Amino acid sequence: MMMFERLGAPGEESSNGFNNAGTGHAGFMEPNYTKEVKNADGSLRTVTTDKVEHVCEQFLSSRQYWEYLTKTGKLPKPDTWIHQTNHIALGVGKDQVEFIKKRYEAMKSHPLFTSMEICLPEEKEKAKQWAPLIVKGRDPNEPICMTKVPHGTDVDYGALTKAKITAFQELGGDLRLHTEVTDVKKNKDGKWVITTKVNGAGSGWAYNKAKFVFVGAGGWALLMLQKAGIPEVNGYMALPVTGDWAICQNPEVVHQHRVKVYAPGAPGAPPMSMPHLDYRTIGGKEVLLFGPFGSMTMKFLRYGSVTDAFRALKPHNLIPTAGALSRNLSLAVMLMKDVFKSAMGKLHDIRHYYPEADPDDWVFIPAGVRAQIIKKDPKTGKGMLQFGTEVVTGENGTICGLLGASPGASTCVSIGPVLDCLEVMASNIRSCS
Ligand SMILES: Cc1cc2nc3c(=O)[nH]c(=O)nc-3n(C[C@H](O)[C@H](O)[C@H](O)COP(=O)(O)OP(=O)(O)OC[C@H]3O[C@@H](n4cnc5c(N)ncnc54)[C@H](O)[C@@H]3O)c2cc1C
Repeated sequence: MMMFERLGAPGEESSNGFNNAGTGHAGFMEPNYTKEVKNADGSLRTVTTDKVEHVCEQFLSSRQYWEYLTKTGKLPKPDTWIHQTNHIALGVGKDQVEFIKKRYEAMKSHPLFTSMEICLPEEKEKAKQWAPLIVKGRDPNEPICMTKVPHGTDVDYGALTKAKITAFQELGGDLRLHTEVTDVKKNKDGKWVITTKVNGAGSGWAYNKAKFVFVGAGGWALLMLQKAGIPEVNGYMALPVTGDWAICQNPEVVHQHRVKVYAPGAPGAPPMSMPHLDYRTIGGKEVLLFGPFGSMTMKFLRYGSVTDAFRALKPHNLIPTAGALSRNLSLAVMLMKDVFKSAMGKLHDIRHYYPEADPDDWVFIPAGVRAQIIKKDPKTGKGMLQFGTEVVTGENGTICGLLGASPGASTCVSIGPVLDCLEVMASNIRSCS
């Protein structure tokens, strides 16, 4: 089995620890997985829990798979890539406090969330113990409410990716670094021909034949599936969104916040704009990340090309793209606001959650690129923007690829038809051999 990677190492794109938020998305703290249900007078009645249950189940499948890989010696010691971290959902101000309370009421009786505890606005001492940085220096008249789940995780997905690929090599897999796939075509003999180019010194082209192809190319998966010419990818486009993290490496600050805290975004803001102040362990180093501050890009990968978005535009995806963009102007507005936000504006955002943040402790680093899926809504036929990850399969399961972004790393083991797709591939392999 061969794997091609255009960079000098695997796990350096979205999966790199600094390029994503490292959240094991179990729905313990992310407000966007529970939707508000309002009364006729506009007040909040309850929140829905079907999506949060689904995300939690998906993440538990990933954890089971990683546990299996660890127990069978294919992954190194878990503390090199996963850490227990309390997951806290935070509400600041009257409306958000109400939301956090209703969310707690709706979720606490479900078996997946029974360990969730709540800290009400009047429980000031408890709040200080849970998340001191959130409490210190805050206006006592500003109500806050939190829920906590003690078995949340922070994952260094870059380290996990590298470890999985080492296991792939130890099992006989052939990893070709600095090798870019430039074309994918079906041959007359039924096999796929993968054209590759070696980047850098000693560059050269090669044509590799394969019965089965998996396209795990992050933001470039769309371009690769388009090259393969499978009709199943028609109508798909990607909306690339990037941004910055604010990062703090001052150990005195970091040691006061060994938790991940997520808060609801501004009203009407898209799910990716949820602000969060995260304790992270990346490559063994403990840091805090805040963000993300969004930004626009034409690249589908961090180390991609500014022509990516233009290359992906095809006659079949023009209408869904126009429809999805016109229906998501709030995202464009949010990104533009972040693009033009000054350093003081960004510090102001951090201080909304961590009131005593010192500008000397924070620097800004680029985050990875999320290539969000644009596709035709199967119900309405109109273009829609989808926040999630899905698998596209073609040619009777001989090719499949993973499209989309967050929370892809947490949920990829059970995303849509991945397992189904592997089953189809496995049965094809059996019938071909
Ligand atoms: C800002 C941000 C925050 C996120 N936060 C979270 C989070 O908290 N939790 C979570 O679960 N997920 C999160 N995600 C999503 C998660 O990072 C991605 O879903 C996941 O990392 C995707 O993994 P991948 O292997 O599919 O793609 P990538 O990690 O992007 O890897 C694709 C690889 O394919 C290579 N490649 C591409 N094209 C070619 C080619 N033609 N030839 C050869 N090689 C090629 C690339 O170089 C790269 O190494 C976040 C993403 C972003 C950007």
